[in-house]
Amino acid sequence: MHEWAIANAIIREVESRLKSSLGIRRLRVVLGELQNIDEGVLRQYLDMMMKEVAPEVDYDIDYEEAVFQCNRCGHTWTLKDVELSDEEREAIHFVPEAVHAYVKCPRCGSRDFKVVRGRGVRLVYEVEENA
Ligand SMILES: [Zn+2]
Repeated sequence: MHEWAIANAIIREVESRLKSSLGIRRLRVVLGELQNIDEGVLRQYLDMMMKEVAPEVDYDIDYEEAVFQCNRCGHTWTLKDVELSDEEREAIHFVPEAVHAYVKCPRCGSRDFKVVRGRGVRLVYEVEENA
């Protein structure tokens, strides 16, 4: 259950931010498309922990689409732009590193590309001033 570890990491980060007196009014937890996370489970943990650590902070969970960029021709694309079977799409969700085995640049066919966005978990804060 890595959702527990992820929730813990988020809570730690929120806690240290609150201690450093950087205000948080709202937190956006952005889950990358190439991250296999059960949103329902993560939300359960976060609800529980946030209530204890930072009851004043609202949070949302958002998704961000994966974006790839070819190292050979510079082309950028998303998973929507490539033809994949359901099985391949599923594999990529469970083992994000496998993306290099299934995906190639739709323009030049190279498998030498980088993941520009959509990997891991990002935290975006809204602070008091912007409220
Ligand atoms: Zn290319």
